[in-house]
Amino acid sequence: MSEKTTEKTSDKNKPQRPFSRRNFIQTAAMTAATLALPGCSRNEKPVLSTLTGDFDPLRSYPYRGWEDFYRKIWTWDKVVRSTHSANCTGSCSWKVYVRNGVMVREEQAADYPRISADLPDYNPRGCQKGGCFTEYVYSPQRLRYPLIRTGERGEGKWRRATWDEALTLVAEKLLDNIYHYGPDTNSFFSVIPAMSPVSFCAGSRLAHYIGGVFLSFYDWYCDLPPGEPLTWGVQTEACECADWFNSKYIVLWGSNISQTRIPDAHFAYEARYNGAKIVCISPDYNASATHADLYFRINPGTDGILALGVAKLLIDQNLIDVPYVKEQTDLPLLVLSDTNRFLRESDLTKGGKEDVFYFWDSKQQRAVQTPGSMGSDKKTIQLNGADPALTGAFQIQLADGKSAEVTTVFELLKKEIAGYTVDKVAARTGLPAHEIELFAKELGTRKPAMIIHGAGTNHWFHNDLSNRSLILLVALTGNTGKNGGGFNHYVGQERVWPEQGFFKLAFPETRKKQRFQNTTLWSYVHSTNKDPHLYNGKPIEWYIQESVKNGWMPLWPKNGKKPRAFIVWRANYLNQAKGNEILESSLWKDLDLIVDINYRMDTTALYSDVVLPAASYYEKVDINTTDCHSYIHPFGKACEPLFESKTDWDIFRALAEKMAEVATKKGLKPFHDEAFDWNRDFTHLAQDWTGKGAIPTDEEAVNFILGNAEETKGMTYQLIQQKPKRFVATDPESWNSDIEDGVAYTPFKHQLEKKRPWRTLTGRQQFYIDHPWYIELGEALPTFKEPLEEKYPLFWNTPHGRWSIHSTWRDHRAMLRLQRGGPIVYMHPDDARKRGLQDNDWVRIHNEVGHCVCRLQILPGEKPGRVTMYHGWEKFLGFKEGGWQSLTYIKIKPTQLIGKYGHVNFRLNYWGPTGNNRDIKVDVEKAKV
Ligand code: SF4
Repeated sequence: MSEKTTEKTSDKNKPQRPFSRRNFIQTAAMTAATLALPGCSRNEKPVLSTLTGDFDPLRSYPYRGWEDFYRKIWTWDKVVRSTHSANCTGSCSWKVYVRNGVMVREEQAADYPRISADLPDYNPRGCQKGGCFTEYVYSPQRLRYPLIRTGERGEGKWRRATWDEALTLVAEKLLDNIYHYGPDTNSFFSVIPAMSPVSFCAGSRLAHYIGGVFLSFYDWYCDLPPGEPLTWGVQTEACECADWFNSKYIVLWGSNISQTRIPDAHFAYEARYNGAKIVCISPDYNASATHADLYFRINPGTDGILALGVAKLLIDQNLIDVPYVKEQTDLPLLVLSDTNRFLRESDLTKGGKEDVFYFWDSKQQRAVQTPGSMGSDKKTIQLNGADPALTGAFQIQLADGKSAEVTTVFELLKKEIAGYTVDKVAARTGLPAHEIELFAKELGTRKPAMIIHGAGTNHWFHNDLSNRSLILLVALTGNTGKNGGGFNHYVGQERVWPEQGFFKLAFPETRKKQRFQNTTLWSYVHSTNKDPHLYNGKPIEWYIQESVKNGWMPLWPKNGKKPRAFIVWRANYLNQAKGNEILESSLWKDLDLIVDINYRMDTTALYSDVVLPAASYYEKVDINTTDCHSYIHPFGKACEPLFESKTDWDIFRALAEKMAEVATKKGLKPFHDEAFDWNRDFTHLAQDWTGKGAIPTDEEAVNFILGNAEETKGMTYQLIQQKPKRFVATDPESWNSDIEDGVAYTPFKHQLEKKRPWRTLTGRQQFYIDHPWYIELGEALPTFKEPLEEKYPLFWNTPHGRWSIHSTWRDHRAMLRLQRGGPIVYMHPDDARKRGLQDNDWVRIHNEVGHCVCRLQILPGEKPGRVTMYHGWEKFLGFKEGGWQSLTYIKIKPTQLIGKYGHVNFRLNYWGPTGNNRDIKVDVEKAKV
C-alpha cells in the first residue's frame, strides 16, 4: 500500500487518527517488543499501552466466538515424545500434542544434543510424512476392530470379531499345525527391528517359543548390500550423516538424498561450504542432481563398469594409496596361478591350515604369512616391518615338493580391469570420457572422499558386483575407516544400536535355537516363480538344490512340506513382494491361515484371513535407532491405543496366553522339537513369553533392551523420553569403531587405527572370493556384468519416492495431493512421442509376467529407455488393472547362495539371496479405458 493511498483512506475515516505505513511499522515494532517482555507469556494478554490507533475492523462484529475456537487449536493438555517406524531411516524425534485425549498435531522435537561445534547439528529433523501422521492415525483406513474374512481373499468382505474369537482361531490353528505338520509350517514375517524393536520382538519371541520359521527382510527387500558381507564381513556399516560434512568429495551413487534422506540431505549440501564437491550419478536428472558439481546421467545398470574404469584410471595414474592397500586389503595376497585359489598354509605344509594366507615380502623375498586371517595366531593386521609386494609372479614350493607359480590379487585385478578403457566405459555408460577422467582424478586427490550409496544401484541383479567395485574405489584411495570417507550405504533402517539387548529380547534361548529363513529363497521355492535365465548353462533350481544340500542355505519347512500359516506384522509383504501376482496365485493359495497385525488396511491386510488392529506409532512405547545418527529416542503413548487396537507387545502376549489356554484345555502333551532337542510345553507359553513375568509391558521391554546393551548403559525409558541421548559406547562384538565425544561416528577405525583384523576369511578387505562357484561364474574379482537379458525395450524402475515411505502414507490425502492423486508412470518425451502418448494418458505397462494400467506423466528429467514408478502404491489405490509389482518376478543370483566359506555364511539379513528388482523390462502403450 502506498503512503498516498493510505492518506486517502484515512481521510475517509475521520475522526480516526491517520494510520500511515510508517506509524503502522512503528506500532508493530513496539507491539512485538512488548510481547517479548519477560513475564508476558502465551496465556497473558499483553498491555498494548503504546498502541493508540483504533484499527480493529471487527470491533462492532457480533460473532466473535470463532476467534477463540481458532486460538484453541494451538492449545494442548500434554506433549508426548514419539517418532515413526515405516523404515524411512530417518528416526526423527517428534513432540505429539494432545488435547482432550485427541492427538491434534506434531512438531519436530529439535533437541538432539550437538556432537561438536564444528559439525552442523541434527535439528530440526523430520519430513512432510511425519508432519501429518496425526491425521493418518484418524483416517478411514485405520483398523479399529479384529476382523475375520467372510468373502474371498482380497474381496474386502469381513465381519467384526471379538479379540477372544480372533485369537482363539489363530491359537488353535498354530497349535494344530505344530502337532500335525511340524512347527516349521508356521511362518513369521516382520521387518526392520531398529525402527521399533519391542514391536518386532513381541512376535519374534512367540516364533522362538513355538519353533516357527522367522523370515528375513533386509535381503528380500534388496536393501542389504551383498558386497559388504563379502568384502568386509559385516551386514552394513555406514557413517552417521553428520560425518558427510567432513568429506571433501561426496559421490551420490544411486542415492537421491533430497527425496529419500530428507532429514539428512542438508549435511551433504552444507559440506560444500566446507570445501566439498558433490558428484551425482543417476540416470534421471533428479532433486539431488541439482546440487551436484558434476552430474553423470549414466545408462541404467552400468554403474559397475564405470567404477572399474575409474579403478583402472586410479591405478594407471598412480592415484592409489599404496601403504593403505598393502596393509588393509587382500590385494597383495598370493594366488596359485593354476587353480586361481589363494595360497594357503595347507598348500605349503601337510596338515597346514585352510585359513592362513600369504603375501610376498619384498624385503625377505619370500612368501610370509598374512597376520590377522581367520586361522592366524596373530590378532592384528600390523605388518611389523614387512613390505608386501603388490605386483609380480613368484615361485614357491608346495607341500608335495613341486614348485608352483603364485601371483598377487592386485596383478589379477589389473588383468581383470585392463579392458575397461576410458573409451569403452564412456561408450557403455553414455558419459563423456573427459568427465570420467576428471572424476577419477578428483576421487584420487580430494581427501577424504566418500560414496553415499543407495537403492538406485543396489536393486540390480548384479548388486554384489557393483557393491564390490564401488568399495574397491574407496579402498584403493585409502578412504575407508576415515571420517568423511568410505562407502556408506543407506537403504533400510538396519542398525539396531543396542544390538545385544535386542537379541536377548528377540530370541531369548539364543539365536542358535531359532529357525531362520531367507525370504527370497522361501518365496521363490514355495511359489510358481520361474526364472528363465541360465547361469553357466544351469537353471537356478540346480544351484538352489546344491546350496540347500550342502547346508549353505536353510530351506523351511523341510521334507517338501508347504508353509501353512503366515503371520505378518509391521510389514506389507504382499504389496512389496517381487512377483506378487505369482505369489498370490500359488504360495498364498497354499496357506491355510494368513494373519495381519496392522494399524491400517493395506494390501497384505486386505488379502488376509484375520486382521488384528494394532496401535499406531503414537499409541505405544518403544525405541527407535538408525544408522543415520548416533542417538536413541522413544515412541511414547500420546494416547491409549485407539478403538479396540492393542500394542504389538500386548497382542502377542494375548496370543501366547490364548495358546497356553487352548493347550491346557486340549490337554496337549509337550511337543518334542528334535531340531533343537527342545520339549515345548505350550501350557507354559505365557510364562515363557513374558520371561517368567519379568517383561509384562512394552516399557519393561524397552528397559530390558537398554539395560542389556553397552550402547545404552545407564539409560531408561523415562530418561530418553526427556531428550534424545547419544550412545555411550559401542560393543566391540558388534561394532568396528568406538563412539567418540565430539566426533561423528564412522566405521572401521578399529581396523585402520587399532589394526584389528577385518571380519573376513583373510582378515583384510577381501576383494578376491576364491569359492569354486565364484571362480566358475567369473566373479572371483569385481567385474562388470550386463543387466539380465529381458525382451522388452524399457527398464522398469521403481525407486523410493518423496511422498511415501514404501507403502505407508501412499494413501494419505495430503501426500496424494502433492502428486496426481494416484499411480503415475514417468516417461521421457522421446519415448512418449514414439508411442503416440500424451501427458496424463491412461497407459498399459506390460511384459511377459503381467501388466498394470495407470496414468502417464511425461518428464524430461527421465532417462530415455526407462520408465519410473515410485514404489509402494497399494494395488487398490487407483490402478485400473494390476499393480507396480505385477511386472516383476523373483530372480536369485547363484553366487548369493553360497555358504560355509570363511566369513560368508547364512545369517538372517546378513547373507542370503537378495530380492533384486531392477533387471525388469516392459513396454508401454495407450490403454483402452
Ligand atoms: S517419517 Fe521418518 S523421516 Fe519422516 S519425520 Fe518420521 S522418522 Fe523422520
